[in-house]
Amino acid sequence: MSKLNPRQQEAVHYADGPLLVLAGAGSGKTSVITRKIAWLIQERGMSARHIAAVTFTNKAAREMKERVQSLVSRDLTRGLIVSTFHNLGLRILKSELKACGLRNGFSILDGADSKEILKEILRQGDSERDLDAVDVIHKHISDWKNALVLPEEAVSTADSDETLRAAMAYGGYDRMLRVCNAVDFDDLILMPARMFKEQPRILEKWRNRIQYLLVDEYQDTNGAQYELVKMLTLPEGKFTVVGDDDQSIYAWRGARPENLAQLQEDWPALKVVKLEQNYRSTGRILKAANTVIDNNPHVFEKTLWSDYGYGEPIRFSALRDEDAETEWIASDIFHRRLQHGLKWKDFAILYRGNFQSRILEMKLQSLSIPYKVSGGTSFFSRSEIKDLMCYLRLLVNPDDDNAFLRIINTPRREIGPTTLEKLATWALKREQGLYHVCDDFALSEVMAPKSAEKLQKFKAWLDAKREFCFGQNSLQAVNELISDIDYEGWLMQNASSPRIGEKRIENVWQLVRSIERMLEKQEEEDDGASDLEAVIKKLVLLDMLEQQEEEDDSDRVQLMTLHASKGLEFPHVYMMGVEEELLPHRTSIEEDNIVEERRLMYVGITRARETLAMTQALTRKQYGEKIDTAASRFLEEIPQEDIDYLGIGVQKDEAKEDAVAEASIANLRALLD
Ligand code: ATP
Ligand code: MG
Repeated sequence: MSKLNPRQQEAVHYADGPLLVLAGAGSGKTSVITRKIAWLIQERGMSARHIAAVTFTNKAAREMKERVQSLVSRDLTRGLIVSTFHNLGLRILKSELKACGLRNGFSILDGADSKEILKEILRQGDSERDLDAVDVIHKHISDWKNALVLPEEAVSTADSDETLRAAMAYGGYDRMLRVCNAVDFDDLILMPARMFKEQPRILEKWRNRIQYLLVDEYQDTNGAQYELVKMLTLPEGKFTVVGDDDQSIYAWRGARPENLAQLQEDWPALKVVKLEQNYRSTGRILKAANTVIDNNPHVFEKTLWSDYGYGEPIRFSALRDEDAETEWIASDIFHRRLQHGLKWKDFAILYRGNFQSRILEMKLQSLSIPYKVSGGTSFFSRSEIKDLMCYLRLLVNPDDDNAFLRIINTPRREIGPTTLEKLATWALKREQGLYHVCDDFALSEVMAPKSAEKLQKFKAWLDAKREFCFGQNSLQAVNELISDIDYEGWLMQNASSPRIGEKRIENVWQLVRSIERMLEKQEEEDDGASDLEAVIKKLVLLDMLEQQEEEDDSDRVQLMTLHASKGLEFPHVYMMGVEEELLPHRTSIEEDNIVEERRLMYVGITRARETLAMTQALTRKQYGEKIDTAASRFLEEIPQEDIDYLGIGVQKDEAKEDAVAEASIANLRALLD
């Protein structure tokens, strides 16, 4: 266990009032949080169940919990809350259902689901134009929720036709969510915050429960999260928050780095500790990061130094196109691993957008390099996973109209749109959910008896599944559900090639395996009790890929977006597509928001411990067209003497280079065999 420096110790040992640890990347902020939890339990004798720590991603929460458990014996950590903000909100909502106007078994909608509901609301309104604007309106609503603005207030403060339309839709949308017994992601924070404001007795109860609160990555909290923290910790301010304004990269999702400064106003007694030693990177990497971020205006002055030696130059490689770019990275990793006796998991490849990973994944696969993609919601957005999740959602929440509509004809049951419209009208009249009225005996009077029969059959079948699902053999029931509907056959039938069909089937079973593991874990933790409903809720919330990582710390190259890499560290880092229009991103250039992109660059650079390489694809396919790219402006902001420029000549010699790369990989393969 490393020895804390005096400043870190000061931060760990101060628990009598509000504390902010403000420091640059790799200075041990997260370490302060874990050590402080251990200290509160061991030295202060606090019960773990009165401590809550909040982080930004599920992966980070998991790592934090593991670190605490390596410092404190397991029985002393029982009841400790370490979670994301959203999971904390969910926990609060679940135990305060009534106060929040929810019923048991409520659903959590992801972005795509909530957009579907919104579309429905807009359709009931007037124009086609609104339908086109669904993304814009959705964003408005999300922004309002993140700033704790209610529909009425949004309407009264709307300053343009567009915002007024969005504000009107907001009210309808929220009502619809309540009817469906559903919440969206933003509600997970907004609803507890509002409830605390309106119901002091419940707030008091939670203040009693959470007597010390710690928040990591504080610079990325939004308005609603700020309020939640504030309400929970008033009046004494028993909290520690840690953050780095230079790593605020979620403004587009409502994060407010100003919250750091706001703290000083709201808590005059706030103690601020600054950390200056970086324990992560070589001097050269740190210098590059510092000089880049120096180009941004600063509210807080920070310094950061490292005594880990100066290290290798930063490599920059400009390649012919995306194919050559990914090829270069893959073969570089391949060589370095062999040369230096490294593990695959010592390498991370970071990119600006998820779309960049596709070609990279193919390249890694073709070279048999094991890899793992983390972050993002790609697994859950696969249609086969969405289908199955909707079946599961409908199992736990029969009021979930959205889930019902998604699966009623998947696989095809020949229930046409007219039938569904009639069903919806009927449901509205009865003030019940779509699923509930499927076996209403009067249905055959409003639609063809054959259609009514189909609906009735569907409901009888799923009701029977539900009974089994919540018994002992819940997993078996899930398996049967899949075979009853011959989902595998349906997937094969609808796939453009057998390989794609098989891949989809594999994904489905991957989800089932995750459910199985989660149920087992629950049994271990809760003395043999398992609760499929809780597992399904968790699945909806958790990123599936992160879930996989929990069990899977096998040796793989790590792939993720720059955003998802926040808080993590790797010995060897590759940043792909360090180009104008990608990093900084085109929309940010258009919106003149280079500062946020520069922070993203800073986050990327500071993930690296020993070596850092950056690449550019000189031509890149965009919207089906090949365009020439320019190296990112941020590259010029790095001290040029620290950069080793490679591969600029690749264009002339491309055929030869490729042949050489291929041959050397073949050689290495032969060596390995
Ligand atoms: P980020 O801003 O990227 O989230 P951070 O400030 O949270 O970084 P940590 O992740 O806590 O930094 O720490 C960075 C690295 O430094 C980790 O590997 C951690 O184990 C190590 N570290 C922290 N404090 C010390 C110390 N006092 N001595 C040695 N190593 C340390
Ligand atoms: Mg950290």
